[in-house]
Amino acid sequence: MRITRRILAQTTAGALLGFLLTTASSSVLAQSTPGEQTKETSVKPSLKAGAATSNISPWLDLSINGGLRDGKVKYLHDELHARALVLDDGKTKLAIVVCDSCMIPREVVVRAKQVIEKQSGIAADHVLISATHAHSCPTAGAVFQSLPDPEYQEFLSVRIADAVQRAINGLEPALIGWGAGKNENQVFNRRWKMKPGTVPPDPFGKTADRAKMNPGIANPNLVEPAGPTDPEVPIVSVKAVNGRPIALLANYSLHYVGGVGPGHVSADYYGAFADRVKELKQADRLDPPFVAMMSNGTSGDINNINFRKAHEPAGPYGRIRLVANELATEVVRVEKTIAYRDHVTLDARAEDLRLGVRLPNEEELAAAKATLDAWPKDKPLTGLSEVYARDSILLSQYPKTVPANIQALRIGDLAIVAIPCEVFVEIGLKLKAESPIKPTFTIELANGYNGYLPTKEQHQLGGYETWRARSSYLEVDAASKITDKALDLLKSLDQAR
Ligand SMILES: [Zn+2]
Repeated sequence: MRITRRILAQTTAGALLGFLLTTASSSVLAQSTPGEQTKETSVKPSLKAGAATSNISPWLDLSINGGLRDGKVKYLHDELHARALVLDDGKTKLAIVVCDSCMIPREVVVRAKQVIEKQSGIAADHVLISATHAHSCPTAGAVFQSLPDPEYQEFLSVRIADAVQRAINGLEPALIGWGAGKNENQVFNRRWKMKPGTVPPDPFGKTADRAKMNPGIANPNLVEPAGPTDPEVPIVSVKAVNGRPIALLANYSLHYVGGVGPGHVSADYYGAFADRVKELKQADRLDPPFVAMMSNGTSGDINNINFRKAHEPAGPYGRIRLVANELATEVVRVEKTIAYRDHVTLDARAEDLRLGVRLPNEEELAAAKATLDAWPKDKPLTGLSEVYARDSILLSQYPKTVPANIQALRIGDLAIVAIPCEVFVEIGLKLKAESPIKPTFTIELANGYNGYLPTKEQHQLGGYETWRARSSYLEVDAASKITDKALDLLKSLDQAR
């Protein structure tokens, strides 16, 4: 009931907004890119594109995930969206959806894809649904002490499917181009090798870790970052034949920025980026509305903290705005340099890979039970040992193997890989280097959620992202198996073009 009411309320608001925009749009359109309008109206494209957003903001008191402890929705700093782009080459349609969410579990994605397939005929393997990994969004899947509300999960799947359908309803002849910018200043590897004997024990009481996540700014025990960064900012730009912008999809390998207050809902820098791109392109209040979206690259071990030297204090939302502005400025600069085509062919592949689960053994399970037994029953879990003990017990109910959906899309000479994990940056760099389709970039946390994906070498260094929990449970060889599968799919796409 509640869902139906909410959707109706939003649909009515959307219709009213649509009316207002229609009446206001002609003057805005007249101001936008007049040079391009005369240049491109003679082109007869066969590619079609449409873009749309759905509001996926939560209601009050829903769980907020992203931390070891649960939060509750108290304030809405900025609205959350599912942002959809649909491309149609005349034979094949692809849909890409980027959602303001920390992570979206497989069951929500599957449900959304079922509705999309039923409504539009686009098969599940041609639809990419990803989460940005903002840590200030309602819980869509269980992680640590946060539990999803099934009503929000259903709402999310319906709203994702709605966005895709409305993008399809708006398909129009379009031009497409792609390119890549760079920003080296906002990505830092958050895992550090430390001086011997200075890494604290892990939550299971073991002292084998050699790497530490978030080791503290200017910590005297820092040795060197445990891995690289990827400063690239790939973009895909889509516009109407008269030059009116339709959509801009960007990608950056940065976990999230944060710096929001407790109980705050915000789309983090992903939402601020979309807003700033609109502003810089003077693409506000277009009809149909222009949709900018920032997808997460491979950022399992990357954040926005310079551990060598502290950033200037920026205040609440200050760094979010700073990062969003730098990336939006770069993306708009690059967009001006790219070549547009009136036709590209589209293709997609996806496969479920069965991967082993690092289940706790009997001894580890007994230790977890003993840790929890020693904790007062009425007190929320605050310590690392207790939180991980609870997760060990919950993880012990997992099957021995789980499916992980690996996907690759081809848009002309560009490929996009989708992986349902918090992917370590080395994996994204390897896929970029070894893909037979150039350029290639990866969208993480797509089509489900299978926790962190460290490489085997990073597993050996230990640290937070490798600690066994429902947020890090795939077998140690998962990274190489997923990389091989992604490269297989890319090869198959390459051979079929
Ligand atoms: Zn994360």
